[in-house]
Amino acid sequence: MLAATKSLTADLSGLDPIETLLEETAEMFRASRVELVIFDRADAVESPVSFSLSDGQFTTSDLTDVTSAHLKGIVSNLGRPTAFNSTTSSGPLSSWFKSLDIDDALAAPLRSGAGDIGFFVASDREGVARSFGEADLELFSTLSFQIGTAFENDRLGQALRDLRKLEGELSQLAIHDALTGLPNRLGLSDHLDSLSSASALLFVDLDDFKLVNDTLGHASGDHLLGVVARRIGACLSDGDFAARLGGDEFAVCVHGGDSHSIAEEIVASISEPIQLGSDLVNVGCSIGIATCDNTMEVSDMLSRADLAMYAAKAKGKNRVELYSDQLGAETLERQQLRVDLRRAIASGDFEVHYQPIGFTNGISSLPIAAEALVRWNVDGELRSPAEFLPLAEEIGLVVGLDRWVYRQALRAFRNELSGLKWMSVNLSARHLHEDDAASWLEETTRLAGVDPSQIVLEVTETAAMIDIDASIHKLSQLRSLGFGIALDDFGTGYSSIAYLRRLPISILKIAQSFITDLGSSGDQTFVRAIVNLAHTLNLPVIAEGVETQVQLETIAALGCDLAQGYLIGLPAELGADPTRWPPRRDLQAAASNTPDFGDTARLQFAQP
Ligand code: C2E
Ligand code: CA
Ligand code: CA
Repeated sequence: MLAATKSLTADLSGLDPIETLLEETAEMFRASRVELVIFDRADAVESPVSFSLSDGQFTTSDLTDVTSAHLKGIVSNLGRPTAFNSTTSSGPLSSWFKSLDIDDALAAPLRSGAGDIGFFVASDREGVARSFGEADLELFSTLSFQIGTAFENDRLGQALRDLRKLEGELSQLAIHDALTGLPNRLGLSDHLDSLSSASALLFVDLDDFKLVNDTLGHASGDHLLGVVARRIGACLSDGDFAARLGGDEFAVCVHGGDSHSIAEEIVASISEPIQLGSDLVNVGCSIGIATCDNTMEVSDMLSRADLAMYAAKAKGKNRVELYSDQLGAETLERQQLRVDLRRAIASGDFEVHYQPIGFTNGISSLPIAAEALVRWNVDGELRSPAEFLPLAEEIGLVVGLDRWVYRQALRAFRNELSGLKWMSVNLSARHLHEDDAASWLEETTRLAGVDPSQIVLEVTETAAMIDIDASIHKLSQLRSLGFGIALDDFGTGYSSIAYLRRLPISILKIAQSFITDLGSSGDQTFVRAIVNLAHTLNLPVIAEGVETQVQLETIAALGCDLAQGYLIGLPAELGADPTRWPPRRDLQAAASNTPDFGDTARLQFAQP
């Protein structure tokens, strides 16, 4: 071993600095082979030597004078650091590499004031990207320069420390997010790995960020993320730690304070308007909190906080939710339900039940119409749409399901229920806003041999109000095709009384809750007002959820035209014997009799 090497060894307490240098170089450039050749040094007393690290094996060998002279020739020819590739390079270096079976390499001369003192090579790159790039070459040049200087000054230890510092800076880059300057996901893992004292992990996700990005552009989106990062930072105390996980997701490690109030503070701070150029933008955020203990893996903590964040979104966004085992179980259940639902839709495990709609005033005891209501048959047990429709919506299957129900309803109306005046079918908001909603409904109805005036499409008040102008447009289209439109669950959504005049509807359905209240508190004010309002607009009114004779008599007295509810008839499947529908009240055949509907002019609603 070189005397110089020994003196340098002392510098790094026990480690061979050259071996360390080669190892670090190998790691830094993902090179499986690194070679350092030293021709001579100012204080050299020994022969030229080659240090080599190949697949983790470190070897030292003395060079013969001939080899040394040959290499010196190559180096002086090389001039400056070069990225070598066997398919593009030529010259003596190239021949030498070929003789060693090297295809890709970084090669640099080591220089001191006295001239070329050696030669540094990293080769045989690991992994998919086999060649060394521009950035590699630049880094390799810097490193070679440092090594050269270090040898000159006999301070390889310093060169190594510089190398470490450089590496440190590089890894800073790797663990930080360039946009916000916050640590990134890697930085978060590092932080959590090194510190087991975090008391809670917050998962912060902006609400509707995509909308800002899409409408105002990515530059504005980036700017917004910067503002959000600063606002989050301002809510934290010393020792707390924030990171950007990617996109519009942030994580916060809370070490001491009350994580819930910190989260609330972040929600409040982010929801303050943000000025983006000339636009004032409002975004909210949803936060999930997972309390931490040091037995937990970072990834588990993150996924718990993530789960809680999703629960916060599901509960209406712009709020904080705490992880609990129950939440975890519910989420698993939902995931399972989602899988089952997908399968059920693929295999058609659904059935349609029909609930009669009848008169309130005894014009006829027979139903005038029926509403199609979907059920999910899970091994003979029926599940209510309230349980699975929101999920079907979430996984993008609700339109398909609606359309399947619609076809069934048309078929039933053509066959078993042909005695009815119309068939009511529910239309989800998603379905209503499909581009081809009107044309699909028109064509499907026509092909089934049913006139659109025999169909009432039920749209909930809430669905109609999501985008009122778009709804007016869509509903007018459907109306002009001849379909009847019912505004469903009226009174439970935003108060849309002001819009009632603008919405092209043909029936109003008073939500069940108002009818239920009629029995108990006897408060008739709302129902009376609605019925009067509807009648001034010449709209017939259906009371939903009529369960008792008292309720029926009350709504009849208030002028309500029609009723739907268990008292009138239960939703039921059409069995083999159509005379058994509707079950309960009047078991007379609906299909075999054409009832006389009298002359209630309002019920001509469906004729455009
Ligand atoms: P909805 O349109 O308001 O339908 C009436 C709901 O009230 C039905 O619940 C019905 O079974 C129930 N109901 C009827 N009479 C009574 C009564 O006297 N008392 C009580 N307590 N309940 C009564 P269901 O079948 O569970 O449906 C729930 C909701 O799911 C429906 O509310 C409707 O909005 C939606 N829905 C049902 N089928 C479909 C469908 O095919 N497509 C879409 N998009 N939505 C559907
Ligand atoms: Ca309905
Ligand atoms: Ca309803």
